Amino acid sequence: MQKWEIKIDGMSCVGCQHTIEAALAKENIPIYYLNWQQGKGLIATDDIAKVKRLLSAHSYRLVDFRPSNHLPFVVIGSGSAAFAAAIEARKQQTSVTLVSGPLFGGTCVNIGCIPSKFLIHNANKLPWRELQQKKQQLIEQLRTTKYEQVAKKWGISIVSGRCRFKDAHHLFIDDELFSFDTAIIATGAKPFTPNIAGLEQIAFWHSTQALDAEKPPKSLCVIGGNAIGLELGQLFQRVQSQVYLIEQQATIAPFEEKEVSQFLTQQLQKEGMQIYCSAQVRHVQKNGDNIKVVFTQKGSDKTIEVEQLLIATGVQGNTKDLNLESAGIRTDTKGFIVVDEYLRTTNPKVYAAGDVTTYPKWVYLAAAMGRTAANNALNNNLMPFSFNTVAHVIFTDPPLASAGKYTYELPQAQAFVFDVADVPRSIITGEQGILKFVCSSDEKTILGVHLCMPHADSLIFAAQLLVHCGVRLEELQNTLIPYLTFAESFRLAAQSVDVPVDALSCCA
Ligand SMILES: Cc1cc2nc3c(=O)[nH]c(=O)nc-3n(C[C@H](O)[C@H](O)[C@H](O)COP(=O)(O)OP(=O)(O)OC[C@H]3O[C@@H](n4cnc5c(N)ncnc54)[C@H](O)[C@@H]3O)c2cc1C
Repeated sequence: MQKWEIKIDGMSCVGCQHTIEAALAKENIPIYYLNWQQGKGLIATDDIAKVKRLLSAHSYRLVDFRPSNHLPFVVIGSGSAAFAAAIEARKQQTSVTLVSGPLFGGTCVNIGCIPSKFLIHNANKLPWRELQQKKQQLIEQLRTTKYEQVAKKWGISIVSGRCRFKDAHHLFIDDELFSFDTAIIATGAKPFTPNIAGLEQIAFWHSTQALDAEKPPKSLCVIGGNAIGLELGQLFQRVQSQVYLIEQQATIAPFEEKEVSQFLTQQLQKEGMQIYCSAQVRHVQKNGDNIKVVFTQKGSDKTIEVEQLLIATGVQGNTKDLNLESAGIRTDTKGFIVVDEYLRTTNPKVYAAGDVTTYPKWVYLAAAMGRTAANNALNNNLMPFSFNTVAHVIFTDPPLASAGKYTYELPQAQAFVFDVADVPRSIITGEQGILKFVCSSDEKTILGVHLCMPHADSLIFAAQLLVHCGVRLEELQNTLIPYLTFAESFRLAAQSVDVPVDALSCCA
């Protein structure tokens, strides 16, 4: 179908844009972008006279039209990074085309943060089937209010289709070819499946299938002991599955501070989860209705038999179908796009943001990268993407959360570990926890905070500020924190560096 760049007189607000979008959509006329600020758009039609009539029926005037297949600003993907980039570009009055693959809204709302945290929070409050129905309703509600309606509000045109590059200056949306000024790749990541003998014969789960399970399995083997494996492992353990977790590193949550990971290990074991670390899965095989998992741990072979298998061994970049090589865009061995600090790819017209890059995979980072990428693409004043003191959370119970530096990054640093059982709040509730400070060796400036304790998911933001502001332990010792909160752990932990806790009065 012929594509036209059109100029419209009278389209003076986003409401006018919506009226025109609705009129064109009614006639099945594809819109690649409309920009009420600039009074122009790109549409596809073989009957431009009809468009003229449609517009004038709504009191707008088609003042110019010329054949074109050019997109000023195309965002590939429709998740958090893509939406943040598109909104930022619209704030700057740029004409935006957002190309959504089949998963409109992306991972977070459909198959990631939202469904997982909903199930974790509500497990055992409702029967599983009802829980699943409510989860689905929530996803649909948020997809509408936080994605569809938001796109409309900002005048972002959404095109359904798959993108792939033709060369450095052109891309296809399905089979339609376009040139572009700027492209932002925000196609996310997908689960990585390790090379385990026998896996190809088995209908195993990744997180997506686990979150959609019709019923909890009687027994579940989780391969991979990082955020997703731990969160979903505990969820299923709590809904009566017997969970076995296999991790090849020496501890679960292997990138966290050792004491914190060990504390979480104990908590999960208390609930009945069986955890095998320093363990390598050799092969898996079907055995009747069950799956046999054979692994080696510290030199000896072990076998477990389970009803279901969850592979949670990280992700790979969603780039296979993008034909990036033809556009001169470099990826690493796991398909993640290599970007510089300004989020530029190796093609000067193309930026990348979110899980598809080599950066850590958290949704708020994805969104922040989307904003930065759009800004840098549209302005000469390039801003580096910095995430130095960013915090992250593993949503187990208790949650594990970290901000700032680790001891393995700073061999000269001093570390202080504090048992949360000494905090008055813990005495009241009986809940346990651990806190670790990583400090500079001279002035004991707080460089990292690592928690596994009640409310760590919210408390970590205070810790992030401590690190960001370069607070010293001595200053924290004199900070007033409301009594009988878990937040007091920060002050008590700081005090306990100089004075043993048993020498301190209750709130002194
Ligand atoms: C189970 C689970 C739980 C999680 N929990 C948390 C959490 O609690 N907190 C947190 O911070 N993070 C969490 N995450 C991570 C978080 O979801 C991701 O970091 C975030 O969603 C990534 O956003 P993105 O925009 O980069 O990619 P995505 O949201 O994955 O979006 C990519 C989009 O690109 C589309 N696409 C792919 N290829 C093409 C193509 N060729 N053409 C057009 N479109 C294409 C896809 O369909 C998809 O819609 C979780 C992830 C999972 C899986």
